[in-house]
Amino acid sequence: MITETPLVIESLTDINIVPAQSSVQPQAEQSWNQVLAGATKGVKSLLDQLDLSVSDLNDRQQACLDFPLLVPQPFIDKMEKGNASDPLLLQVLPQSSELEPAEGFINDPLAEKHSNLQKGLIHKYHGRVLVLLSTGCAVNCRYCFRRHFPYQENRIGKNDWQAILDYVAKDNSIEELILSGGDPLMLNDQQLGKFIKQAEAIPHLQRLRIHTRLPVVIPQRITPKFVEILQSTRFDCAIVLHINHSYELDEKLILALSNLRKAGITLLNQAVLLRGINDCLSDQTELSKALFKAGVLPYYLHLLDKVKGAHHFEVSEKDAQLLHQQLLLNLSGYLVPKLVREESGKGSKTPVPMRP
Ligand code: SF4
Repeated sequence: MITETPLVIESLTDINIVPAQSSVQPQAEQSWNQVLAGATKGVKSLLDQLDLSVSDLNDRQQACLDFPLLVPQPFIDKMEKGNASDPLLLQVLPQSSELEPAEGFINDPLAEKHSNLQKGLIHKYHGRVLVLLSTGCAVNCRYCFRRHFPYQENRIGKNDWQAILDYVAKDNSIEELILSGGDPLMLNDQQLGKFIKQAEAIPHLQRLRIHTRLPVVIPQRITPKFVEILQSTRFDCAIVLHINHSYELDEKLILALSNLRKAGITLLNQAVLLRGINDCLSDQTELSKALFKAGVLPYYLHLLDKVKGAHHFEVSEKDAQLLHQQLLLNLSGYLVPKLVREESGKGSKTPVPMRP
C-alpha cells in the first residue's frame, strides 16, 4: 500500500473533505472526512496527547519539513499513553535520524519514474496497471517508499481519467486495475464509484484491486456506500490492506472489515518489516493470527525499500530470513506471509530465498 510532500493534502476540495467542525461533535458521529480534516499535524501536539516529551523536538520538526507529520485521531487512540516505544507511534513520529544521510538510501528506490508512463499511471508488471488515483494519504508513514515521489506531477483529476482508461483499453493484456496512490480511498464514494463504472466499460478488465491504509487509521472510511459500490461492480474485487502490527486491529476496524467480508470482498494484507516495530517472532505471529481472525489473509511481508530518511527502520536480510523461518515453523502455512523485496526493473516482487 501505499508518500511525500505529495502526501500533503493539497486541496481539501479535491478530495471533498468537509472542514472539521469546531463544535463538540462526538467522534463516533463524525464522518470519515471530518475525522481526516481534524488529523494531528504537529509533533508537539502528538507527543502532548500521549503524555510524552523529547529532547530533540527541533530536529523532529525539521524532519517534518521534508515529509510532514499526519496522523488521524483513531490511530492515535490505539497508541499507549506514556510509551515512547509504542509500535504505532514509531511508524508516524519523525526521528532526528531522518536528517542523517545513509548510504544506499535514495529518493526513488524503486526507480518508479521509469514506469510512470503517463500522468497518474504506473505500468511495471504484466497484466496489471497501477493508477495513482489520489496524491494524498490519511496518514504519513515515515518509512513510505513514495515519500519523495513526484506526486505534484502525477496529480490527476476527473479530466485525466479518460487518458488513463484509454491506455488500459488499448492493451488487452491488462486484466487487473490496481488503485493506489497516495491512498485511493481519499476519493469520496461518488468519485470512486464513477471511476469504477467508467473502467467497467473496458471488456478485458476482470479484476479490481485497491491498496489502502485508510481504514486502518479511519475505520469510518468503510461506508455502506463504498461496500455497495464494490458489491455491485462486475469486477472481482480484492482489497490489500496495510497493517504492520496487531495493535492496529481494534474493534472498529474489525467491524469495518467484517462488512467488506460479508460483501464477498477478498481481504489481503501487506506489511513492511520494520526495526523496533514488528521485527520479532511474537509480533509477527500475533499479527498473522489477528489478521486471520479478522478475515484478512497475510499476503506479503516486505523488506524495507531503501528510501531516503528511513534507514533507521531497516532490518537486515539475514535477520528477516531467520524471522521468516521461525514463522514457518510456528504457524500454519496460510498464516505466513511471503517474504519479498521489490527491485526496480523486475517483472514481479522478488521472493527472499530461505537461508540454507
Ligand atoms: S499510507 Fe501507504 S502510501 Fe500513504 S504514507 Fe503510508 S505507506 Fe505511504
